Amino acid sequence: MAVLKVGLCVGCGVCAKACPHSAISVFEDGVRRIVFDSKKCEECSFECNEACPMGALEGKPDKVGLVFEFAYCVICGKRLNVVKEEAEYLAKKLIELGENPEIAFLCDNCKRKRLFGVANKYEAYLG
Ligand code: SF4
Ligand code: SF4
Repeated sequence: MAVLKVGLCVGCGVCAKACPHSAISVFEDGVRRIVFDSKKCEECSFECNEACPMGALEGKPDKVGLVFEFAYCVICGKRLNVVKEEAEYLAKKLIELGENPEIAFLCDNCKRKRLFGVANKYEAYLG
């Protein structure tokens, strides 16, 4: 049976890139929309299922549109190029790796400043 486990989907759009029949689309305006069009699905070798990092797809995706809000940098407030669910997933992965999960919620500029700040302190410590 065709299933999209909506609760598992983090809105990354990887499945859309994997689909050779353009049956899955990603639109970005103020939000990110992932649209699954079952009419366009050719039930290929289910590359979308394979590509999904969350195991959210099983078989032919249903016709459905999902909407995700973007995440914002916790320091400067700039909009990130990931949605909230993706940032939360990345944060969990960083925790598993023993890294600081805050990195998942920083824009590139603030990430760079934070990482250089650490490097500068380290250099000062070394003298
Ligand atoms: S199963 Fe359908 S939606 Fe998935 S990659 Fe193949 S054609 Fe695209
Ligand atoms: S690859 Fe999986 S998690 Fe990412 S948008 Fe597609 S269904 Fe959702």
